[in-house]
Amino acid sequence: MVAASVLTEVGAAQQVRDIDLRPLGPSDVQVQIAAAGVCHSDLSLATGVLRQQLPAVLGHEGSGTVIAVGADVTRVSTGDRVVLNWAPPCRTCWFCTHSEPWLCEKSLAAAEKSHAWVDGIDVFPGLGTGAFAEQTVVPETAVIPIGADVPLEVAALLGCAVLTGVGAVSNSARLRHGESIVVLGLGGVGLSALQGARLGGAASIIAVDVAADKEPLARRCGATEFLVAADDVPKQIRKLTDGRGADAAIECVGRAATIRQAWSATRRGGRTVVVGIGSSDDRAEFGALEVFHFARSLIGCVYGSSDPDVEVPRLISAWQQGRLDLEALATERCGLDGIDDAFERMRGGKGGRTLAIP
Ligand SMILES: [Zn+2]
Ligand SMILES: [Zn+2]
Repeated sequence: MVAASVLTEVGAAQQVRDIDLRPLGPSDVQVQIAAAGVCHSDLSLATGVLRQQLPAVLGHEGSGTVIAVGADVTRVSTGDRVVLNWAPPCRTCWFCTHSEPWLCEKSLAAAEKSHAWVDGIDVFPGLGTGAFAEQTVVPETAVIPIGADVPLEVAALLGCAVLTGVGAVSNSARLRHGESIVVLGLGGVGLSALQGARLGGAASIIAVDVAADKEPLARRCGATEFLVAADDVPKQIRKLTDGRGADAAIECVGRAATIRQAWSATRRGGRTVVVGIGSSDDRAEFGALEVFHFARSLIGCVYGSSDPDVEVPRLISAWQQGRLDLEALATERCGLDGIDDAFERMRGGKGGRTLAIP
């Protein structure tokens, strides 16, 4: 039995309970969790915005140490340190074989199957990983081995926020050296996007958030300008970019109004990347003429349009070279009993990432 934060009902408080992990299948890996970041997608799963079978153990931005492996596992051995990958590509479907593994048709298969029991009842792992627990069981494809020199606490963030934020800038917006870029919404992903912009050599990095007190953290992550969210943000951004608008914008809020603002803040021919997960009834409107006239692109972004098996080692070398400040992103720590409080901080737009340490 291991302790886990268990969600039994949509919208209800999570409870720390003892769960029995299922026995290892031949391709499974058992991981002792070192840290798990509390991500906005966990909140969306807990509140029913994203679908989740219950009861569930959420948490998908995790790191830890392999403590047991199934008979056919070749990727890792006991004792290896790993980052969890919540969307492991199958490598055989149409998307995987056409170089878009982040759109894999089977990447969320593990989330559909029970990975443990609580009082004899099936428990489902949030996004297939179930990292808000002392231990979890995942398919071997869902772990990415990392070196012994990377602290496991900060490595956890590589599994979602950093991969997504940096990937949105480099892979989806295809930022070029010397360009200007706007990032709207400074949670874990937005702060990572600022860092991605700095890594990619952006000349001007404009951060926008509703909370004015995020400015110092935004600047530590690479922002060269900071704006408090307001209706006239696109106008303020044009002023900062010779009247043209930014080359690219990254929307990390998931609301039609901020998607519109991000789009309007870019220049003619600019690129807007939507990373935020919104609701299906929140509609953004675009005039038929403006779509032609401004020649802008609107780009959706899943998991940073990244192949985690390739990108995580790359991000680790950027951290080793001092070009990626993972430590800045994790502003709070909590235990398994503190995840609902972390959701509250997230709703209030406070701080960066909270790391749950089981
Ligand atoms: Zn996430
Ligand atoms: Zn696939």
